[in-house]
Amino acid sequence: MKATRQAAPELAGGDTPLSSLRGVGAAMAEKLAARGLSTAQDLWLHLPLRYEDRTRLTAIADLRLGEPAQVEGVVEAVERGFRYRPVLRVAVGDGSRATLVLRFFHFRGAQAAQFRPGARLRCFGVPRPGQHGLEIVHPSYQFLGEGETPVLGDSLDPVYPAVEGVGAATLRRLIGQALDLLPDAAALELLPPSLPGLAGLPGLRDALLVLHRPAPGEDLAALAAGAHPAQRRLALEELLAHHLSLRRQRLAQQRLRARALDGPGTLARRLLDSLPFALTGAQARVFGQVRADLARPSPMQRLVQGDVGAGKTVVAALAMTLAVERGCQAALAAPTELLAEQHLASLRAWLEPLDIRVAWLAGKVTGKARAAALAEVASGAAQVVVGTHALMQEGVAFHDLALVIVDEQHRFGVQQRLALRDKGPAHGLVPHQLVMTATPIPRTLAMTAYADLDVSAIDELPPGRTPVRTVALGAERRPELVERIRAACAQGRQAYWVCTLIEEAEEDAKPGQGAKLQAQAAERTFEQLSQQLPGVRVGLVHGRMKAAQKQAAMRAFKDGAIDLLVATTVIEVGVDVPNASLMIVENAERLGLAQLHQLRGRVGRGAAASSCVLLYQPPLSALARQRLDVLRRTGDGFVIAEKDLQLRGPGELLGTRQTGLAAFRIADLARDAGLLPQVHALADRLLAQAPDVAERVVARWIGGAARYAAA
Ligand code: ADP
Ligand code: MG
Repeated sequence: MKATRQAAPELAGGDTPLSSLRGVGAAMAEKLAARGLSTAQDLWLHLPLRYEDRTRLTAIADLRLGEPAQVEGVVEAVERGFRYRPVLRVAVGDGSRATLVLRFFHFRGAQAAQFRPGARLRCFGVPRPGQHGLEIVHPSYQFLGEGETPVLGDSLDPVYPAVEGVGAATLRRLIGQALDLLPDAAALELLPPSLPGLAGLPGLRDALLVLHRPAPGEDLAALAAGAHPAQRRLALEELLAHHLSLRRQRLAQQRLRARALDGPGTLARRLLDSLPFALTGAQARVFGQVRADLARPSPMQRLVQGDVGAGKTVVAALAMTLAVERGCQAALAAPTELLAEQHLASLRAWLEPLDIRVAWLAGKVTGKARAAALAEVASGAAQVVVGTHALMQEGVAFHDLALVIVDEQHRFGVQQRLALRDKGPAHGLVPHQLVMTATPIPRTLAMTAYADLDVSAIDELPPGRTPVRTVALGAERRPELVERIRAACAQGRQAYWVCTLIEEAEEDAKPGQGAKLQAQAAERTFEQLSQQLPGVRVGLVHGRMKAAQKQAAMRAFKDGAIDLLVATTVIEVGVDVPNASLMIVENAERLGLAQLHQLRGRVGRGAAASSCVLLYQPPLSALARQRLDVLRRTGDGFVIAEKDLQLRGPGELLGTRQTGLAAFRIADLARDAGLLPQVHALADRLLAQAPDVAERVVARWIGGAARYAAA
């Protein structure tokens, strides 16, 4: 296979800086770079989100729900309104005895003024059910002059992920220029088709060209589902690159030295004796694995998966005592301040009676308190340190850090994980690493996503938990629910009401606005429920509130000063309020099963029987119904994760956010799970026979972004 490699530059022309493209000045280059686009190759890999077929026109009467189409017509009526927020509705007719409504939530005054009755336009979008017939939210559109009939396109129009400050047309033009720089197939290809697993897939060059410039006849459904051979080819190479880099990382890690934390375990024993409960069999087993790892002079790299409430924290605390016993420090980082604070409370309660000093470092710890904490950490007076990502920042120096624990690691990137590891002692030693997650990942995925880690599972819940009763209800039954909340609160129980985004199209139209819209939805629900439930104390938490406000609301809920907490999904991880026994999730059909499972895990933590109500917007697709059924039937996070993977189908892809795995450019671990056996086989083959090619694959896809090479 080396025969195909020539002395070509590493990236075969792909490293051409974008500033050398026509029309790219310093300002433009900067905007592109802000989005991670700095070379021709970055643009080759900036793939279309979807394609618009403007090769034909569809009569309004022939439009079909959910099928993107281009329509030409005349504005019949315009209505500007305000319902919670501004909205512009434009009725368009084309003589086909049906009317289409265009609906806008984000628009400027001048833009709205262009829509005048009688104006002719062409628009493109996805029809969905509206109040009166079909409507398109945020269509793309173009006004037509008197007698003007622009020719129809002769290829599918790619729609690229937006780059802030760079217009869509400019971006398309630049990508076109970059594609002109593509070298010939042999120079570009790293994986000859003779390798296992590549049969039937196009070469890299062809795959890129098909995806950027699909011919009119191309299989749009396959493209939309991510199942097109060209997409699979790229996903395969990308997954391969990640897998290889993690394997390399692991090998490098195994060569590193760490402090052997091999004491007698006296502190751990004392901690166990002081607990009001005995460890479950699963906790004891996993702690045993951790302890064996820690006793070795090479750094532990272990992932502990454990369902919500499985009791990971106490295992972390036990591990920390082993570091303390050897006179070293241990750090625990959590992704949110709320979660970190909860850990702080548990660890102080467990460890301070053993004379272990626990320091606290979070973003909100400032001034004198911060200086004091930093000093304690630097001198070693604090043996255990708990905090948020603030722990990973520069300026935080440890006396002798031997163990790093990261909770809910999917919220952190691999890079952040490594940053904390770098805070270990000098003289060539690195800390042991323990990563904890409540998002169970099916084994095949774990092998790829965590190829650098050993995996343990706490697959048993502590005794005495009552399973949460789960029901799915159509949104029209909301009034009953309001009654149910009233009743629960009257009995001294507490409830959560979780709001999620309603308008997917809005998210599409304005990427990055999700948090804001979600916050607005929560505020509306908060107002409504406050009105409908006069005797109930209602609180609000969302991601756009200041940290202090969020904390205050959460604290009030925890202290029982609030009965009903209206929240966005910010509450999803780790929040522990045992008196809460009712969880309501709106638009549940929109969320990933793993995320719903996390949310549900917020209840069922106390003695009272708890329930979880999944509200959905009818009609529910068969697939969505099946997915919600999985949650109704099982409370086992591992089963849910497997089902989630099986059931994710075309059109219901949830992206990497919900799976909590690394962000890929093209691959989607859930969608492309079927490729993983090929990926693993290819990786074995390359590592054995052509390590230089393996290096190049990693360099191409991960390149400077990763520091694996330095590890
Ligand atoms: P998670 O795995 O979700 O992080 P936690 O560590 O927060 O779970 O544990 C959830 C609750 O269960 C805590 O209140 C903890 O003290 C308690 N707990 C942990 N282990 C046991 C056990 N073996 N028996 C009873 N309760 C336990
Ligand atoms: Mg936890």
